[in-house]
Amino acid sequence: MAHDLSKLGRTTQTIHAGQYPDPTTGAVAPPIIQTSTFAFRDCDHGAGLFAGSGDGYIYTRMGNPTIARLEEAVATLEGGEQGFATASGMAALCTVLFGLLRTGDHVVGTSSVYGPSRVVIERDFARFGVTSSFVDTSDLAALRAAIRPETKLVFVESPANPTIVLTDIAAAAELAHANGALLLVDNTFASPILQRPLEHGADIVMHSMTKFLNGHTDVVAGMIVPRNKDLHERLRPAHWYLGACMDPHQAWLALRGFKTLAMRVRTAQENARILAPALEAHPAVAWVRYPGLASHPQHALAERQMDGPGSLISFEVKGGIEAGKRLLDSLELMTLAVSLGGIETLIQHPSSMTHAAMARADRIAAGISDGLVRLSVGCEDVDDLLADLEQGLAAAAS
Ligand SMILES: *Cc1c(COP(=O)(O)O)cnc(C)c1O
Repeated sequence: MAHDLSKLGRTTQTIHAGQYPDPTTGAVAPPIIQTSTFAFRDCDHGAGLFAGSGDGYIYTRMGNPTIARLEEAVATLEGGEQGFATASGMAALCTVLFGLLRTGDHVVGTSSVYGPSRVVIERDFARFGVTSSFVDTSDLAALRAAIRPETKLVFVESPANPTIVLTDIAAAAELAHANGALLLVDNTFASPILQRPLEHGADIVMHSMTKFLNGHTDVVAGMIVPRNKDLHERLRPAHWYLGACMDPHQAWLALRGFKTLAMRVRTAQENARILAPALEAHPAVAWVRYPGLASHPQHALAERQMDGPGSLISFEVKGGIEAGKRLLDSLELMTLAVSLGGIETLIQHPSSMTHAAMARADRIAAGISDGLVRLSVGCEDVDDLLADLEQGLAAAAS
């Protein structure tokens, strides 16, 4: 089946991982195996599959050949064990939490994680007796202080959403492991093109594939990649029984989007590298946060931990929330919408949108000011993006 891609370049990997000709027809594009269940050759074959041995599939919630191609593709890029595709990024997170935690366990998380990720831990898993502390994990002393004897999971998002704050993944892994805890990294913002947390000691990587990995703003999907077979086996029952599985059609679309990941990430990053300094130099802009700028407090960590600064920029317009609204309402090319990592440029206002469910005090403490605007730079011609920002900032300043 698949040849060893682990030594090849990342662009080659995105194009070829999980993408072998169909063994029965020779089809170069993967077939969509749209079935709920699979016939066993005989009783022993079926019994073997249920016992975890033998070749084949049982039931699509537990695995499917189209979905397996996608799981293989992402695992190849992340350098991990084949993991689990899920219905959404939130389904990936909930599957990991459901699979690893029990009453009395404690989670330490990055304070500015994706809003719903924090809500589900603080509000929903709390109902089952799981406690949590969300701290600025870019501050290793704060992370160390938050870890308790009962801490079983450290959950880092880096770069974090939407503050673009980075956490030192290798240091977080050391702190987690010294306490016998696992490190889960949400790698949605960077994608494996720019950052591979397993190389830095993380145990599990999760993705909202809705964002860069699919990249075309037309699929909601998630992925879990464990470091090794052991963790794969620990998470497998949760994936089987929680039912947050992916659908074969969804997997096929995501596989199609994934093939252009490396090109999209590089093009969007080239654009962001031009837009970020232009914003920083603009008189209507109060501040800009982008790991590629020398002004980013963790510029050096970004250079060490990532293969590039990516294409997410956060900034604030002078004149507070009203000026910010004038900017967002006057943009013509950039779309006012949540989500990120698509080929088109999207812009949003976290404190009234993605992070509105958080208490304002928590938002401010996490660095999400009322006027912060998050820009997900796409793959358009950069001159068009610059012109749109220019006219939007002129409207904001008026
Ligand atoms: C969008 C997002 C999620 C949630 O993913 P869905 O696919 O929307 O469920 C989780 N983490 C990050 C960083 C995200 O941007």
